[in-house]
Amino acid sequence: SLGLEGSVDIYKVDRPFPLSPLLNDELSSYEEILVLEETYPVIELQIPYREKTRGRLDGTVPSEGELKPENILKALHLLLGDFPFEKINDLKEGSPPRLCPGCPHRATFWAIKKAFPQGFFPSDIGCYTLGLEMGAVDAFLCMGAGVSLAEGFYLALKNAGQKIPPICATVGDSTFFHACIPALIDAVTKKAAFVLVILDNTTTAMTGGQPTPSNPPKNLRKVEMEEVIKGCGVEFIKVVDPFDFPEMERSLKEAYAFSQEREAPAVIISRRPCPLFEEKETQKRSFILKLLRKNCKSCMLCVLKSKCPALEKGQEGPIIHQHLCRGCGLCVFICPNQALILTEV
Ligand code: SF4
Ligand code: SF4
Repeated sequence: SLGLEGSVDIYKVDRPFPLSPLLNDELSSYEEILVLEETYPVIELQIPYREKTRGRLDGTVPSEGELKPENILKALHLLLGDFPFEKINDLKEGSPPRLCPGCPHRATFWAIKKAFPQGFFPSDIGCYTLGLEMGAVDAFLCMGAGVSLAEGFYLALKNAGQKIPPICATVGDSTFFHACIPALIDAVTKKAAFVLVILDNTTTAMTGGQPTPSNPPKNLRKVEMEEVIKGCGVEFIKVVDPFDFPEMERSLKEAYAFSQEREAPAVIISRRPCPLFEEKETQKRSFILKLLRKNCKSCMLCVLKSKCPALEKGQEGPIIHQHLCRGCGLCVFICPNQALILTEV
């Protein structure tokens, strides 16, 4: 706690636009208003009391970049004056955002990193951008740029006569349909040799589970992803279950070999539904993850490599947060000492 209770009221805005007129009435009685909002000053612009409103527009909050704790504390310092600025040092570093436990993307990213330890990994916009945390996303720009970045880097390095690392791009299924098809056609035409992994979790997970063209509601017509990729001129297309860990690694290497031999993009579809949107029945827990202490060498590879929120470093081996674990088995596969096992309950 920053000890501001009683002197600063906090209001959490649930609907940024249009702002409720009731909120504006409420704000009229305050001496000063500090607006803390990510990206553009949408809320701030709607507050009519300009002379007493602080935020991104008047520079109290930096007009660019993330709302980091230190920025918020600096803004409070500017407003409150006597606010103990040293409290910044007391702040504990938060953990970076990570993929959910049991997320199939985690398994795919782990395999990508394993197959191409020296690779270059462009990606795209979606929950899978969090592959950054696993070292399997190096660059992303805007929707559709995952494929065009892969093509651009390949051609730039080739034309400069430089060594080209394995390039493996990732895009989500809905992003693929939405924005990657023209870039993929261009990559085929320009003979760009890279691996494209389409992370097909059969939904638009990041924005709340909207349907995709390859998994539409029952009354709509399905568009087969494989057919679209084939129609773009891609000759290597393989569908792999990301939880088949050895097969995914093998397939990635196979795709890379094809891309090099044929000077063409090769596509892996990593297909497994997002566990957040699975039927309730299949979400029922039927396993428990156990640590066999006698086997564990406390190397923490399971924690460090999987980056799973259900695992944490402990004094003697990993701490397992059973309520978070979804039994994907990745940490079991990663452990070199057979110290983790999934058992039926
Ligand atoms: S990877 Fe295996 S041996 Fe290493 S800390 Fe995890 S459970 Fe223990
Ligand atoms: S099995 Fe391991 S990696 Fe998978 S959700 Fe559970 S703790 Fe995480």
